[in-house]
Amino acid sequence: MLAFQPAVPSGYNIALTIVSLVAAIALTGTGLAIGISPRVPNGRWIGGAIVGGGIAVMHYTGMAAFEIAGRLVWDVPLVAASIIFGGLFGAAALPVALRANTIKWKALGAVVLTVAICSHHFTAMGAVAIIPDPRIGISAMALPAEWMAVGVALVSIFIILLAVIGLALDLRDLRRAGEAARMQELADAAVEGLIVCDETEIVAANRSFAALACVDGAQPVGRLIASFFPTVCQRELTGSPQHPLEVALCATDGSTVPVELIQHSILYAGKPHQVLAVRDIRGRKRAEEEIHFLAHHDPLTKLPNRTSFNEKLEAEFTKSRGADQCLAVLFLDLDRFKEINDLFGHLVGDAVLQCVAEKIRSILKPEQMVARLGGDEFAVIVPGLPSPAYATRTAEAILNAFNDTGANLPAGVTIGTSIGIAVFPNDAADRETLLSHADAALYEAKMQGRGLYCVFEPSMGEHLRDRRQFEHDIRHAISRKELRLVYQPQAELLSNKVFGFEALLRWDHPDRGAIPPAVFIPIAEECGAILKIGEWVLRTACAEAATWQQPLAISVNVSAMQLHGGNLPELVREVLKETGLDPIRLELEITESCMIKDIARALAALRQLKSLGVQIAMDDFGTGYSSLSNLRAFPFDKIKVDQSLVRAVDTSDEAAAVMRAVFGLARGLKLPVLAEGVETDAELGFLRAEACDAMQGYLLGRPCPISEFTQHTNGESRTAAPRWLGKGELRVIKNTAA
Ligand code: C2E
Ligand code: MG
Ligand code: MG
Repeated sequence: MLAFQPAVPSGYNIALTIVSLVAAIALTGTGLAIGISPRVPNGRWIGGAIVGGGIAVMHYTGMAAFEIAGRLVWDVPLVAASIIFGGLFGAAALPVALRANTIKWKALGAVVLTVAICSHHFTAMGAVAIIPDPRIGISAMALPAEWMAVGVALVSIFIILLAVIGLALDLRDLRRAGEAARMQELADAAVEGLIVCDETEIVAANRSFAALACVDGAQPVGRLIASFFPTVCQRELTGSPQHPLEVALCATDGSTVPVELIQHSILYAGKPHQVLAVRDIRGRKRAEEEIHFLAHHDPLTKLPNRTSFNEKLEAEFTKSRGADQCLAVLFLDLDRFKEINDLFGHLVGDAVLQCVAEKIRSILKPEQMVARLGGDEFAVIVPGLPSPAYATRTAEAILNAFNDTGANLPAGVTIGTSIGIAVFPNDAADRETLLSHADAALYEAKMQGRGLYCVFEPSMGEHLRDRRQFEHDIRHAISRKELRLVYQPQAELLSNKVFGFEALLRWDHPDRGAIPPAVFIPIAEECGAILKIGEWVLRTACAEAATWQQPLAISVNVSAMQLHGGNLPELVREVLKETGLDPIRLELEITESCMIKDIARALAALRQLKSLGVQIAMDDFGTGYSSLSNLRAFPFDKIKVDQSLVRAVDTSDEAAAVMRAVFGLARGLKLPVLAEGVETDAELGFLRAEACDAMQGYLLGRPCPISEFTQHTNGESRTAAPRWLGKGELRVIKNTAA
């Protein structure tokens, strides 16, 4: 418009020019505001149209401010067209520019807006015709076009300046937003929850905290810090940094999470704030609980262990003392549990223990407690009894529960238990004594038969003390030189030659006299003394055999505990080396029950022993499980048939049939058979007829000190030959030693 230089005087009305400027700013501003507002439907089109309209308003107000010595004649259709162009292109400009936040679309929007402005102005200027009329004057206030140009230039420069400032501010905000986003990303990458809070409110939080505390997807920012940590006082939360705090975090859904809080003061947005690191300690708590559980419970049955039992008993003692009530302790020991373990294996043994634990637990009242003290020993605390008589009710209930068998146990497995009861304050005044009395009562119950309970009586302590004394004596039998070995000869039936001796242990007790091995060996096995005793027997027997002029065999009995517990192969190697005994002369007698306990381990030990060159015999065959698979699992060198099978083979058809079956089995496995406990000629006759390989028994000779057998060991015939040797059936071994 400024370039429009009519040949007649012209100028600009200041007031209207200003109105035109203000209208342009106001309408463009309104249009842009509407265009970027998300609340106005189709706001971009409407806003754009208002911007276009603003251009038209500015132009026509500007035209109204144009004072000229002439008349303006308007072509109405072109005026309308100019407004429509401005409006339409303006309406299109905003949606195009705001379509995406990229330079391409912004530039395209600018082009469309330029088209709107140009199409409007050119059309609008084409719509006006000036007819000069000297009669029309220009007001004195009208600004000449040159002045106007300077004014427009100044305003434009001012606007550009404003735009540059705006751009600079925009860039600064962008940079700050980028920094904030990077900080947020860093905070979000932390595994721990992080929150920044002022006095009372959370002002920033990372994703880990939101995930921990805001279960329903709510935002932590803006919430009260106390709403997440209701149990902690405000001062502790936002006070000066101290040691880490263990508190409960209350999540938005009301659930609580144990957390550890670590505080730091920081300057945030120029003001002092607190940063709280929130560490989820659920995993640690779980581990702590597990460790606590393991320390106080038996892992197999999940019952309280001895530690918990003692703690509970101590607490109940204190309570009972004050309340004038009775407190009973029941000691339980499973009947024949060892047999179940040996016969069915450890897995079944474990299942039995779990079943027992469940059974007892199910019948106890909440204030009562059952604990596993170890092995097959359980104990029950029955507090708050009005009188001692009530203790037996619990014992009866437990025995009844054991009577209905079955549950979860393999076929053939039955369990029973013996129970010993002692009651505070009647039987004992302190915990230790009460426990030892319950133990004495249990021992008594076992002695009286199994599957019953006994209540403590003062006389019972005697029996237990006696047993403890016995165990003590066994442990010291070696050092007190109370043990000795006797030897029983073994002979081949075909050649009638004595080929070796079995070493049998004897204990001459200073007060109790001679105690048979069948009595003291099981006790030595129970109390663990068998390891030392077995070692002594092996050493003594080998040393003895090594002195013989005849290279006769020496058989030594080995108990299950030696095979599984001690390092038997190592011991045998050492003893052979020490004594110089030829390994082929040593025979170890193993019973079947030894193997069953842990067959894989037993086989490994036996293989190691065999690799030393010693012989292995299966002892007492026919008394245990007589399982073919055991015989096949390990290449034994001999089967020793137990005397209970040999007895009466000559008179009983059944006994003979069993014996024949054993011979058949042995032949099938190509194993020689030695018959134990042969006492009569008739038995011997039967064995000969069945082509038995060897024999041992009173008929050949009783177990005696080795000095009785020098005619065999050293080839001299000083002592009288055994009864049946005298019949000339057996060639007494001649001294073949060099
Ligand atoms: P075993 O190994 O079967 O020993 C044979 C047992 O039968 C011996 O009893 C022996 O005296 C007895 N005997 C031998 N011939 C006859 C007979 O004709 N008639 C009768 N009625 N009995 C006969 P003993 O010495 O009382 O030993 C019993 C068991 O004690 C042994 O049975 C063995 O299992 C165990 N034993 C003995 N000494 C030891 C040892 O040093 N270590 C281990 N672990 N066990 C041993
Ligand atoms: Mg034996
Ligand atoms: Mg035997």
